[in-house]
Amino acid sequence: MAPVTIRATDVVALPMGEFTFAPDWPYPYAGQTGVVVAYAVRHPGGVFLFDTGFAAAAPDLVEFYARWAVRPRDLAEVLGEAGIGIGDVTALANCHLHLDHAGQNDRFPGIPIHVQRLEWAAAHEPDYTFLETIDFAGASYEQLEGDHEVAPGIRLVPTPGHSPGHQSLVIDAAGGPLLLVGQAVYSHGEWIGLDDAREGASSAADGQAYASSVARLRALNPKRVLFGHDRRGWPS
Ligand SMILES: [Zn+2]
Ligand SMILES: [Zn+2]
Repeated sequence: MAPVTIRATDVVALPMGEFTFAPDWPYPYAGQTGVVVAYAVRHPGGVFLFDTGFAAAAPDLVEFYARWAVRPRDLAEVLGEAGIGIGDVTALANCHLHLDHAGQNDRFPGIPIHVQRLEWAAAHEPDYTFLETIDFAGASYEQLEGDHEVAPGIRLVPTPGHSPGHQSLVIDAAGGPLLLVGQAVYSHGEWIGLDDAREGASSAADGQAYASSVARLRALNPKRVLFGHDRRGWPS
């Protein structure tokens, strides 16, 4: 059987909303607009979704959303703009379970959601995330320990650092590996090593793991890299 090759055009960026960095955040963040980007990957077996964006505004989120001026977008609407129905999604994963990446998981009862075991444990610690939309009735999580092929030519690899069970998606695309790195690398600027880039290294929960994960991603020799907090991919 011929290997499955996915075209770069089968990977669709989903703009899931914006926020404004709080004024007390260090340079170069304070006052800037931040973005959250999820991705849909069309493949012969269906549509694989990587991240679900911010949770919709809820009473428990009012304070946090006001502080960060969070402007969430509805996943069904964003998918619709890309010509994808929410019912077309056959499986999904989140880079990690913070509420800006896993906030609309509850749209997918009965659909497999791939999560690293360490991330699932972290999400159930106090003050980690907004669990209501993550650990929901009908949820069908598949807990992983390490690399996992979710469909031919598409695999999850652990990239801890920002969070304990962070993972990235490696796609065997025509021309070379295409990486969806979520928040393993914060931005295009961080990937290319700009001094004043918005970068995740300095705020990572585990800086050593973060650096090792970036090294692992670079060793994959990617042809293209797409980020969870930057609309600009590499190369741009
Ligand atoms: Zn996070
Ligand atoms: Zn994030």
